[in-house]
Amino acid sequence: MQDPKVFIEIRNVHKSFLEGGKRRIVLQDADAVFYEGETAAILGKSGSGKTTMLNLISGIDRVESGAIIIRGTDLTQLNEKARTLFRRENIGFIFQFFNLIPTLTVWENIILPLELKGEMQKEGRQRAMQLLEDVGLNDRQQTFPDRLSGGEQQRVAIARALVHDPLLVLADEPTGNLDEENGRLILALLDRLTRQAGKNMIMVTHNPEAASIANRVMRIHEGRFVE
Ligand code: ADP
Ligand code: MG
Repeated sequence: MQDPKVFIEIRNVHKSFLEGGKRRIVLQDADAVFYEGETAAILGKSGSGKTTMLNLISGIDRVESGAIIIRGTDLTQLNEKARTLFRRENIGFIFQFFNLIPTLTVWENIILPLELKGEMQKEGRQRAMQLLEDVGLNDRQQTFPDRLSGGEQQRVAIARALVHDPLLVLADEPTGNLDEENGRLILALLDRLTRQAGKNMIMVTHNPEAASIANRVMRIHEGRFVE
């Protein structure tokens, strides 16, 4: 059998924050390898650095030292503009609090990544229509987010995260703000639209059920990854 291909390499990543004049180390010599097609779950106590790690992988935040290599591109060697472009092109996000834009309709929220990428041609619109159907919100296209339930908002967020066909989906506690039933629905959708579709996903979660859709479960403990 062929060896699995490396998708992301995280090497000796170090990150601290200044807090009341004191440095607080959050990540220290964090090392991990993610393989192509993997759905990975990252567990860890509150404050252990999970969100910080996702922000580094997406290039929103910068490492202090170490490397984050995604399909051969070392994000830590790119300037901010190049990191932003890389993110728009390659990454889809799902957040605990959905983060939809309140002044845009469901449809406008979903197609936003396409507009940022300058990809609003037929193919992109077709993908957006398909995703709208996949998440069961066909009849809510013109609705604004504040008219939707939490579960529905998260379904919009899933469609938005996938519309530009990103290399990697990052989900930060995607069921953290939903009741059990809606949490299950969201996990089933993520399972179908990312894991079964062979997409790369890294999901931070507290929810053991969420971890059960992952091919791989890791933990961040004392600033490092442990398997
Ligand atoms: P988790 O997502 O695992 O709950 P976070 O990555 O959000 O944890 O936070 C890890 C630690 O880093 C916390 O102690 C938090 O207060 C601190 N932290 C995160 N972001 C910042 C920031 N921008 N400035 C200062 N401290 C931060
Ligand atoms: Mg967090």
